[in-house]
Amino acid sequence: MLSTVLIVKDLWVKYFTSSGVINAVSGVSFSLSRGEMLAVVGESGSGKSTIGYALLNMVPKPGRIVKGEILLDGVNILKLSEEELRKIRGSKISIVFQDPFTTLDPLRKIRDQFIEFLMEHGIDKNNALKIAREYIEAVGLTERVLDSYPHQLSGGQKQRVSIAMAISLNPSVVVADEPTTALDVVVQKQIMDLISDIKRRYSSSFILITHDLALALERADSVMVMYGGYVMEMASKNELAKNMVHPYTKALFESLPRIKQRTLPKYLTGYPPDLRNPPPGCIFHPRCPFASEKCRIMKPELVEISKGHFVACHFAR
Ligand code: SF4
Repeated sequence: MLSTVLIVKDLWVKYFTSSGVINAVSGVSFSLSRGEMLAVVGESGSGKSTIGYALLNMVPKPGRIVKGEILLDGVNILKLSEEELRKIRGSKISIVFQDPFTTLDPLRKIRDQFIEFLMEHGIDKNNALKIAREYIEAVGLTERVLDSYPHQLSGGQKQRVSIAMAISLNPSVVVADEPTTALDVVVQKQIMDLISDIKRRYSSSFILITHDLALALERADSVMVMYGGYVMEMASKNELAKNMVHPYTKALFESLPRIKQRTLPKYLTGYPPDLRNPPPGCIFHPRCPFASEKCRIMKPELVEISKGHFVACHFAR
């Protein structure tokens, strides 16, 4: 039995904007085992990236975690001081952003940035240089990259550097927020191969945040499908691939392009909900082809329909 490294319980996140309160994440719960990759899948505005930020307790303002627990190796990170959080970010939990420029300072060489990052976590300069070399090689780059400025590297190389920094302190959990979206297709595959390889080699646990259900089904061990801040469906990858139940998950799957398909993929009609003023009942009902009167009035609970397979739909079986 693999140990559990992360438990999220009843997480609620809201953005308090001048035009109203956005309910970004509503009552989300899940757990992650050592060596597991959980994909959090959904359209823009589904709350998936907010979950990523919440896991590091760094939801950008005017957002705030209003309720819940995030237990990382048994410690509720929502109870930690800013100083304690600074220590665990990078060493216990780290994040790889969509755009590696978010992580890398364009004015400084990779070597200096990498060493400084490690020294901030209490590693002396000599060891920091050794670790930087080791992890730059672990992500398939040569030591020469350490002497480069970010603008001298390709998008794929920059993302490899971000990944090297994110894993260099052997954190319990790595959050990868759309790590390949800004890259071209060939490099996307290389980066996902690298992440899968790191997961295997170091038994790292990953939260993969993505809009791409196909990528989730290909790479992750388990998948959590989000819509309008709520979990719609959650299951192991194998279970979900053979038994998709929620109408939203099915719609996402049907809208994937297929190589042999001669017709255009089916697209989900309508728009994601306005989270300042979400619809009553099932949040998906305005776009759901199976919506009934009950769906317009009553919110479905997330229920376990078979072992480890959870669905939020009145008609799930
Ligand atoms: S509860 Fe109703 S509206 Fe919601 S997904 Fe199920 S059938 Fe569709």
